Amino acid sequence: YYDAKVVPIKFDQESERYIIVLHDTTKEKQLDKLRREFISNVSHELRTPLTSIHGYAEALLDDDLSNKELVRKFLGVIESESARMTRLINDLLDLEKLESGDAKFNFSDVNMCKVIERVVTILEPLAEDYGVELYTKCECKSTVYGDFDRLVQLVLNLVDNAVKYTSIKETGEKKVFVKCYGKEDKLVFEVQDTGPGIPEDAQKRLFERFYRVDKARSRKVGGTGLGLSIVKMIADKHNATISFESKVGEGTTFRVYFKKSSQETTDENK
Ligand code: ADP
Repeated sequence: YYDAKVVPIKFDQESERYIIVLHDTTKEKQLDKLRREFISNVSHELRTPLTSIHGYAEALLDDDLSNKELVRKFLGVIESESARMTRLINDLLDLEKLESGDAKFNFSDVNMCKVIERVVTILEPLAEDYGVELYTKCECKSTVYGDFDRLVQLVLNLVDNAVKYTSIKETGEKKVFVKCYGKEDKLVFEVQDTGPGIPEDAQKRLFERFYRVDKARSRKVGGTGLGLSIVKMIADKHNATISFESKVGEGTTFRVYFKKSSQETTDENK
């Protein structure tokens, strides 16, 4: 895209010439398009839970409230949908903070085994509720230079996805393996699941904001479509790279490669 401007220039008394100034506005146009798409996505994402909250509240107001079971069911939807809205707004604010550079990072040498321990403590009850077996194997003997809480957030988002999406599989085993190990000069964090897998055409869009392979499925598990964008952002801040492989019907494996910040040690509690 170009904006054109005609500028007259006078050489002498008689002759007048013009120059045409072309200003390349492609980048501005693209940014504007992204901004508009973002606003429309956010509005849509917020409107969906609001519509159901409104609908169920209205139904309750019109009802004589004698059917306790129905009232409970409706209140349950209102509660879970408003919780999802809160999560969505928190995730959005968090992403904005990470993107603008306002997020504070407290870097130190972090033992990834401690990060995994924390996440497993948080997610074990959920996994049990969902009937998913959660296994961990910590073999990383060096540390990562990073922010402990942000690393917890990264690991939490990946393991949470693995547990949630594996739980909705109709048949077969439901297992999630969380590992960390050293590989050459890298420390690898890995989450492998036996979930539904991600179709090939969806794989390249996975880290886009609000992208979901299956919107209904994501909503069912309370997803916001922002989890992996946050993972990517935190990995970037740690100069870490992410890779994944997935096969429909077999499962998905995510790996995050960190630079080691210390020599290998046999001291597990470092
Ligand atoms: P959401 O909040 O919807 O989970 P994410 O950004 O965390 O959003 O993930 C984007 C999409 O990627 C999800 O909606 C889901 O379709 C897919 N996905 C992520 N992790 C997995 C996984 N382990 N197994 C299958 N699908 C996954």
